[in-house]
Amino acid sequence: MYDLIIIGGGPAGLTAAIYAVRAGLNIAVFEKIGVGGQLLLTESVENYPGFSFISGPDLMEKFETHARKLGVMITYEEVKDTRSTGKGHTVITDGGEYETISIILASGSMPRKLGVEGEDQLMGRGVSYCAVCDGPFFREKEVVVVGGGDAAVKESIYLTKLVKKVTIVHRRDKLRAVKILQDQAFSNPKIHFIWDHVADRIEGDDKLEGITIKNVKNPDKKKTVKAGGVFVYIGHIPNTGFINADKTDDGLIITTSPMLETSIRGVFVAGDCRDTNLRQITTCVGDGALAAYSANDYVEKFKSGHL
Ligand code: NAP
Repeated sequence: MYDLIIIGGGPAGLTAAIYAVRAGLNIAVFEKIGVGGQLLLTESVENYPGFSFISGPDLMEKFETHARKLGVMITYEEVKDTRSTGKGHTVITDGGEYETISIILASGSMPRKLGVEGEDQLMGRGVSYCAVCDGPFFREKEVVVVGGGDAAVKESIYLTKLVKKVTIVHRRDKLRAVKILQDQAFSNPKIHFIWDHVADRIEGDDKLEGITIKNVKNPDKKKTVKAGGVFVYIGHIPNTGFINADKTDDGLIITTSPMLETSIRGVFVAGDCRDTNLRQITTCVGDGALAAYSANDYVEKFKSGHL
């Protein structure tokens, strides 16, 4: 039986692993695809203390190297279900079943889709959720970015290094992104804005030709913006389907104490899948450390019969 199973190998999960191993816990880390989480999709990080500029993949590699040096092993299996047994928990993956005293949910989130016609057909053929992965395919082309948050604006700025023109389509007339990013975007001659519009349809058969958008104040008013690529940055959906802990309507895990406990005893939560107001690498790292501290406390009490 493990002391702790950490679900997710992003900044929150790896930080939890580093703290847990240093505390002497016998742990397993399960990761579905590859360590890194959303950080792997981020071209540059400029707000992680100690690094005025570092690429997302480079920072993640540092996290992973650090964790591996301490003996953290990452198992590439997808968690499908979890059950509380009364004497601990069972984590069911596509590779097996594992018993553990405690769990840290650090499973992050995946990009939210537009949910419009043409999106699925043209995914990977013009529709993308990752500028850093797909941006180079659109050199000297015109692209559309949908969204108005930090991710949409930051990745638009990155795209201007590659493409001819970026049009940001946002559903309001104000960006949600932090001021420093807004200032950079407004002063970038390659970035243009279409306000108060949402996606209606992705155009094209085998290859993306553009996006039809509609005015939120007058939905009958539609127009098609020609584009070689459409990048979607309209937030994320948490990866929490495998756990029955209390969640918000959006699927975010609700904490029941400042120690990052969830509604299930012995299950803690860290990072982007948690119901919180700020989602940054720094907050994921803070969550990971605190969740590991709480899990260690829980495991000690469990083993000494003080629960
Ligand atoms: P976000 O902050 O939730 O922003 C999502 C954006 O998409 C909002 O502008 C929202 O509009 C819009 N939106 C949501 N649903 C939509 C829909 N169905 N159709 C059209 N537009 C829709 O998500 P995010 O930008 O991915 O950022 C996620 C978290 O990561 C945030 O906490 C962010 O601060 C953090 N992050 C930080 C950085 C950084 O450099 N510091 C970079 C990337 C991400 P409204 O504004 O009208 O709600």
